[in-house]
Amino acid sequence: MQENFSLKAHNTFGVDAKARYFIEVHSTEELIEALNYSKTDTLPLLFLGGGSNILLTKDFEGLAIKLNLKGIHEDLINDNEVLVTAKAGENWHEFVAFCLEKNYGGLENLSLIPGNVGTSPMQNIGAYGTEIKDTFVSCTVLNLENLQLETFNLEQCRFGYRDSIFKKEGKGKYVILDVAFKLTRKDHHIKTEYGAIQSELEHLEIEKPTIQDISRAVINIRQSKLPDPKEIGNAGSFFKNPTIPLPQFEELKEKFPQIPGYTSGDFVKVPAGWLIEQCGWKGKQIGNVASHKLQALVIINATGNATGKEIFDFSAMIIDSVNEKFGIELEREVNII
Ligand SMILES: Cc1cc2nc3c(=O)[nH]c(=O)nc-3n(C[C@H](O)[C@H](O)[C@H](O)COP(=O)(O)OP(=O)(O)OC[C@H]3O[C@@H](n4cnc5c(N)ncnc54)[C@H](O)[C@@H]3O)c2cc1C
Repeated sequence: MQENFSLKAHNTFGVDAKARYFIEVHSTEELIEALNYSKTDTLPLLFLGGGSNILLTKDFEGLAIKLNLKGIHEDLINDNEVLVTAKAGENWHEFVAFCLEKNYGGLENLSLIPGNVGTSPMQNIGAYGTEIKDTFVSCTVLNLENLQLETFNLEQCRFGYRDSIFKKEGKGKYVILDVAFKLTRKDHHIKTEYGAIQSELEHLEIEKPTIQDISRAVINIRQSKLPDPKEIGNAGSFFKNPTIPLPQFEELKEKFPQIPGYTSGDFVKVPAGWLIEQCGWKGKQIGNVASHKLQALVIINATGNATGKEIFDFSAMIIDSVNEKFGIELEREVNII
């Protein structure tokens, strides 16, 4: 256990906030021991994976627990399917790479998403037409009230767009310890229709892509579009893409004929990046914080010296201006601590 510990290296924004106490745990037993300690002191808790989806707005006056549980386990289901279970502290992309190495299909479109396996169910991570809910089977959690292990299946997780029970009713109640996915061994379902995958495959001169080719294409696209947190502090998309009722979208379309939207039933999902860009934020810097020049949805720690409060205030200004211009209230995707 360390005291007054800087979390700068533990959040991809690179914000220099301190935790009153910090501990790294490598097993469920160590985690329970740390939790028992925090109970005697009634310390607030902060669980840390890769720190790629948090914004620390101030010092954390509690116990930050870095979850470093490692291990991957495989169970063959049949000729074509395998159940792969990974512990919470496994790095997500390394886990995807492990599966690709074994020729297990289903996660390739999610290549290069930062963070850890244990956090993937929190917001049902997704990219390029795939979300973890498509292959997710179950996760083991520790119930923080009674320190008992429980299993959540697909239905119980109530996955939605960047959402799950762990961000709603279950918020702060469970620690995810491992996650199990059902993957294919030979009849892979290749998804090329989303984003720029098809044109990237053409660029790579690949006609019949394998799951490994899809991963390579996704990695190339992501590297060309998104800032690498190792070079410039950020947490990926700062806001969710808002979903608005169809009549509201039609009204906006009259005023802003170029507005993009993806209709699903009576609702339309509007790209938050477009809305932010239309308000003049793309590439704009105020003090230490900026909106990325290639992707307005990504807020960056432009100088490396931004505080969490500065980044939060910058995001509040974006929310206000989008609301003023379009009457749409953006919701933050990043967890504000
Ligand atoms: C450059 C970049 C690109 C990104 N692209 C995408 C993308 O394409 N799609 C996407 O969905 N996301 C994307 N993200 C967001 C991020 O990668 C994911 O949300 C990821 O799952 C966060 O994992 P983490 O381990 O870093 O979480 P952390 O930031 O460590 O934690 C996030 C939240 O979960 C809690 N938590 C962490 N671990 C556990 C656990 N085991 N049990 C319970 N609670 C826990 C934390 O307390 C915190 O509230 C991107 C981020 C970056 C920086």
